Amino acid sequence: AAKPQYRGRFAPSPTGPLHMGSLLTALASYLHARSASGLWLLRIEDIDPPREVPGASDSILRSLEAHGLHWDESVLFQSTRLDAYAEALNTLKASGRLFPCSCTRATLGPGGSCLRRCKPGPDDPTALRIQLDESMGFEDQILGTQAPPGESGDLVLRRKDGLYAYALAVVVDDARQGVTHVVRGADLLPQTFAQLELLTLLHSPRPDYAHLPIVCDHRGTKLSKQAGAPAIDDKRALNNLRDALRLLRQPCADSPAATVDELLVQATADWDPRALARAAKEVLVYH
Ligand code: GLU
Repeated sequence: AAKPQYRGRFAPSPTGPLHMGSLLTALASYLHARSASGLWLLRIEDIDPPREVPGASDSILRSLEAHGLHWDESVLFQSTRLDAYAEALNTLKASGRLFPCSCTRATLGPGGSCLRRCKPGPDDPTALRIQLDESMGFEDQILGTQAPPGESGDLVLRRKDGLYAYALAVVVDDARQGVTHVVRGADLLPQTFAQLELLTLLHSPRPDYAHLPIVCDHRGTKLSKQAGAPAIDDKRALNNLRDALRLLRQPCADSPAATVDELLVQATADWDPRALARAAKEVLVYH
């Protein structure tokens, strides 16, 4: 059979504006897709209203546009996909591995697992969990062979407050959007094993994965919204892209391009994930 066309994606959570770490993820997933003549899709992962920052979705979309990172097709908002997540839970029920859990932080076992240790009473608020083998490894396109952790555990799919968990939504929507390549931060690498298992149980195809090195500040703290990483300034878009390309060890970071579009065309033509693989064991430091 012919290989499906490359479909990549960027899937930010609207918990704050883009910072250099998330711009780097956006740019790398964009260049990886465009250099393969692929599509680049955008998904806003707005399924956790308590963590959402008002205005963050709009600000992320505006920043991507200011940086010339134009997406294909329409933006998929996870807040519109609750029916699909409910349906996926139904499908997963057939596996016999779903179970209700009334654990609190204090009663959970090692690694945050319940493994059916609790016995919820009829009126106890419960989360819905799935028991997993975590026995599937994968070949990361940047980091190489990833052996599975080798111990089974479990995972919350629907929280006590009724909200769906990231792990469920991400696999349902990667399948829905026909994503063939996932390029994202290495902070999510440990979650990939569970996601591969969920994809299998949902009879969904398995994308290729590439996990990017994490960007830290000069103190070695990972850039994140929680740690207060500064928002990128859209007025400095060309400079921001150069900084991100430098962090990604791309040769064209210092090209004389005069506009973001020009720089992106060149960065696509010169995209070299192997340079990134060589840097993958280092921490990327952004000053
Ligand atoms: N929404 C997740 C985040 O912002 C990323 C999901 C993914 O790329 O799989 O951390």
